[in-house]
Amino acid sequence: MTLQELRTNVLKCQKCELYKDKKKYVFGEGNSNSNIMFIGEAPGASEDMNGIPFVGRAGKILDELLALIKLNRSDIYLCNILKCRPSGNRNPTPNEINSCASFLNMQIDLVKPKVICCLGNFATSFIMKKYNMKDKINGISKIHGKIFKFTGLYGSIEIIPLYHPAVATYNPAMKDILLKDIKILKEKNG
Ligand code: URA
Repeated sequence: MTLQELRTNVLKCQKCELYKDKKKYVFGEGNSNSNIMFIGEAPGASEDMNGIPFVGRAGKILDELLALIKLNRSDIYLCNILKCRPSGNRNPTPNEINSCASFLNMQIDLVKPKVICCLGNFATSFIMKKYNMKDKINGISKIHGKIFKFTGLYGSIEIIPLYHPAVATYNPAMKDILLKDIKILKEKNG
């Protein structure tokens, strides 16, 4: 399966109810050859309208974080756990996450990132569970900005939990923490 074929499958998904109210599926974007993958939670209103991840207010913060470490979107692969917007930006339900999980798992298998940056609690717990580090999930406030290593089928992966950029849109103190935390990725990329 290629990413393009996977996208085609996502664009006709009806595995949970979210497809009914969405405007656009938001598959994922960026450089599929990148070593760095960012995973968010779910599309918001702007992403739902555009079909592209992180194009709203949280996306502006993400762009600032990337710019700080001299990266832009074409240097990373960017996607979400859910490919459809939960109405009113509510949290994803466990059922929605399970329904969509195989898509994200396949994206990871196809992109084969060496570093996964998890944006927020939902992405962090999805990835920590996937890589058998469930015991390390004691809340994003305890593990943000740290590196967790996992060795799997295609070599080692480093997992970096970060606060979700959306928190920085209403809490400037969080933005400072995000700006500090993202530097760990720069150290990794030289
Ligand atoms: N928040 C997310 O988690 N993902 C997006 O694409 C936009 C906002």
